[in-house]
Amino acid sequence: SYRKGGYHAVRIGDPFSGGRYIAQRKLGWGQFSTVWLAYDTLTSSYVALKIQKSAQQFAQAALHEIEFLSAAADGDVANTKCVVRLIDHFKHAGPNGQHLCMVLEFLGDSLLRLIRYNRYKGLKLDKVREICRCILTGLDYLHRELGMIHSDLKPENILLSSTIDPAKDPVRSGLTPILEKPEGNANGGGGASAMNLIEKKLKRRAKRAVAKISERRVSMYGAVGEEEASSKSERCLDGIDMRCKVVDFGNACWADKQFAEEIQTRQYRAPEVILKSGYSFSVDMWSFGCTAFELVTGDMLFAPKEGNGYGEDEDHLALMMELLGKMPRKIAIGGAKSKDYFDRHGDLKRIRRLKYWPLDRLLVDKYKIPEAEAKELAEFLSPILEFAPEKRPTAQQCLEHPWMNVVSTQKSNADNVESQMNNLHIKG
Ligand code: ATP
Ligand code: MG
Ligand code: MG
Repeated sequence: SYRKGGYHAVRIGDPFSGGRYIAQRKLGWGQFSTVWLAYDTLTSSYVALKIQKSAQQFAQAALHEIEFLSAAADGDVANTKCVVRLIDHFKHAGPNGQHLCMVLEFLGDSLLRLIRYNRYKGLKLDKVREICRCILTGLDYLHRELGMIHSDLKPENILLSSTIDPAKDPVRSGLTPILEKPEGNANGGGGASAMNLIEKKLKRRAKRAVAKISERRVSMYGAVGEEEASSKSERCLDGIDMRCKVVDFGNACWADKQFAEEIQTRQYRAPEVILKSGYSFSVDMWSFGCTAFELVTGDMLFAPKEGNGYGEDEDHLALMMELLGKMPRKIAIGGAKSKDYFDRHGDLKRIRRLKYWPLDRLLVDKYKIPEAEAKELAEFLSPILEFAPEKRPTAQQCLEHPWMNVVSTQKSNADNVESQMNNLHIKG
């Protein structure tokens, strides 16, 4: 993919946008882009640099993403709405063509990595609540204030945001800016092999530095290797303030100006999208419900597979009905694709026998969540996973739900300690 029209090859120390940004190390990649940690010499801070492939269709997609990121940034001057901030964008000419580049605020690991880091055992409910509050704040903003549907919400597209500023606290963040190309990293400098050696060394150094912090606390900087995560026994997130932001606006659309019929990543896809019955903001709420379940249990809520005589879509619908009960007939037969999966009674054509296992029982029986907590959680999640899209609560309504507003035991302990300290102060 590093050819004409494809990715832009980046080396540590490479300057971008007239030298304002200096590449530090690779953070991630997608089908359309690579994402690099870069140092912004103008503001002395770290940023994430998303460098798009150069071919026309990728440039088009980047312009689309920039449109939605800009709208989100313009409406949130104080940057408190839990959506990743677009700082800048520009074109970069390279040997493979012109690449659109997005400069984003630098965030940490995705929730998917957090779930892996926790060895797929799920997070404590208080942590899930904190994360849900951020996601819902972001969705409420996108939906109600901007009229925007994210349409690809999933753990991978929600990134932790750290409370440490790596530019101000290089020791704790394990990051020291690289401001110049390392010796031999320039064209014609020390030759290819020396160049590779130095780069490898630098990469190792960066990795080691970040591995260090991740031993003490969950890394907010994308450094928890999977091998490392699985080799450690117990994971403790106690005392870590969970904040996160919604990223990846490559598939976003306006509610009143939709582009695609098939949206969302398979496992997080709402039933009305599968059936092609039309969609709105509530598709994001469905994905949110799936994501919240995954945070609690470490398992995907629905992981459909194609089987003998039926496809992935039909399996997906069957899994939904096994958890949520039979889909109301009117909804089942109401979509452009309904006839592919349902007969006129609203029964699946090829998967006839369903094993009903409702959410509250699943949480207790399979995931060993205490009865009372499971009941409360199911009461929060069940309306979000309503088959009828218009019956699903909005993000704003979810934020007001009792489950979101439980005062955690941990927090009240901390408050007690704090009030005792205050008392001491007064007495002292
Ligand atoms: P593509 O559209 O190219 O297929 P994508 O849309 O999935 O890819 P993103 O989700 O925006 O691309 O970014 C890919 C990865 O880069 C993320 O999963 C994450 O690891 C990393 N990343 C993206 N944005 C940031 C950021 N602001 N801070 C830190 N890392 C980031
Ligand atoms: Mg993504
Ligand atoms: Mg994308």
